[in-house]
Amino acid sequence: MATMIIENERTKAASGKTYEVRNPATGEVVDEVPFGDVADVDRAAQAAAKAFTTWSKLAPNKRAEILHKAARNMLAKVEEIAPILTKEQGKTLLESRIEAQRFGENIAWFADLADKVHGEHVALPDKTTYGLVVRRPIGVCGAIVPWNFPLTLAANKVAPAIAAGNTVVLKPASTTPLATLACIEALIEGGLPEGVVNVVLGPATGDAIVGHPLIRKIALTGSTPTGRKVMARAADALKKVTLELGGSDPCIVLDDADLEAAARAISVGRFFNCGQACLAVKRLYVQEAAYAPLMEKLVARASKLKPGNGLDKDSRMGPMHTDTQRAEVEAQVKDAVDRGANVLYGGGRPKGDEYENGWFIEPTILENVPDGARMWTEEVFGPALPVRKIKDLDEGLRLANDSQFGLGSSIWTGNMAAAHRAVSELEAGYTWVNALQIAHDELPFGGTKQSGFGKEHGVEAFLQYTEEKSVVYGGV
Ligand code: NAD
Repeated sequence: MATMIIENERTKAASGKTYEVRNPATGEVVDEVPFGDVADVDRAAQAAAKAFTTWSKLAPNKRAEILHKAARNMLAKVEEIAPILTKEQGKTLLESRIEAQRFGENIAWFADLADKVHGEHVALPDKTTYGLVVRRPIGVCGAIVPWNFPLTLAANKVAPAIAAGNTVVLKPASTTPLATLACIEALIEGGLPEGVVNVVLGPATGDAIVGHPLIRKIALTGSTPTGRKVMARAADALKKVTLELGGSDPCIVLDDADLEAAARAISVGRFFNCGQACLAVKRLYVQEAAYAPLMEKLVARASKLKPGNGLDKDSRMGPMHTDTQRAEVEAQVKDAVDRGANVLYGGGRPKGDEYENGWFIEPTILENVPDGARMWTEEVFGPALPVRKIKDLDEGLRLANDSQFGLGSSIWTGNMAAAHRAVSELEAGYTWVNALQIAHDELPFGGTKQSGFGKEHGVEAFLQYTEEKSVVYGGV
């Protein structure tokens, strides 16, 4: 049985309760884990607060050294960790390998910043004084993570937090705790000191983290409704919050685009991770002359995405993570079809004995999806893509911005003026121009509108795990 990790000790829930983690491809039990609650969060927060007193005072280059060593140890275990992630989450082994690799790389990337970000000297009018702006870590930080990318989204929070000298109470999604535990175990085995990262499990621990008085900052990746609840609860104690929430990223393809490259990016963007990604091509707007050839290419690509158990070598798309999640996407597709949409590809469940016990779904492309359909107005968190023909860039931009969300966005065109206009006008935290939707370590990532606020990745994320303090030295 897996355990939680508090002060580097493997621990059961104080209540003694447990729950099962199941494989979305087979329905089989993968492991039993502790069902933690408020008491366990309290223990973890106390441990993190104790560790903060020493971790925050370490010389930054020493912290960097410890984190690099821990990351190297974790990266040496990618092949062990990937199948654990596939079994609990459903994604293909290739996707799990990429994710596990990203976890270790992210720790190393922020470790590099630990001793490079600094404050500044400020000259003051009275020459017997001088001013400084120093950066200090915040304290204990809460990291709350969803099930779609359990490792990368945990690393996005843990890595900048601990590199900046904070300590963490981490809560993975209830259904995907196992690979995260394996990663943290590997960091500890590689020398991460006790209490720096503590892991609690169980559905109620998220709320307990947000409400705990010792926890000073909350970083949540999750749905927009959860973001609203977390922000409201965090307001009680005026905690800092970073909210990475839902998205419905538009993609505009103009007639002069490289359609082969666009089709590849759209296919990866919509079907990677069985469509369960925040950054994903979720609404496609295609100019008239590009429409037919692009649809042909997209359908050809979708037809190659064989659904299957993520552990099987020939699977190109794992199952959906839960039955509820699949039912939600199926209902969104049905809503579009009921309103008159035309199914260009997929639209159902794959058939065969191997699909009987898992939450499999076909990659799906729909055209003529009428205005007002759920696929346009809601986040579609699965492998189904609504497509619409547009006359010109004006129409594309108007439709793209007609959304409550503002996470990612993309445009494909050979015209730099059109690309530049899209970059200026698309209401999103990220715009890719003729490029695959990949969130780079180097660039700050985060949403606008109801996709949340605050940044992960980049120097900006590191800074958000520090507080600025002004200092005046007198009598000099
Ligand atoms: P979710 O909001 O249901 O849960 C996310 C995490 O929050 C889980 O660990 C959950 O246990 C916890 N949680 C739930 N209610 C809570 C509360 N009241 N207080 C504190 N914690 C609470 O989301 P999900 O279904 O696990 O993930 C899918 C959603 O995440 C999608 O909307 C997706 O777009 C979004 N997402 C966003 C990003 C991003 O970076 N913007 C990345 C990935 C996923």
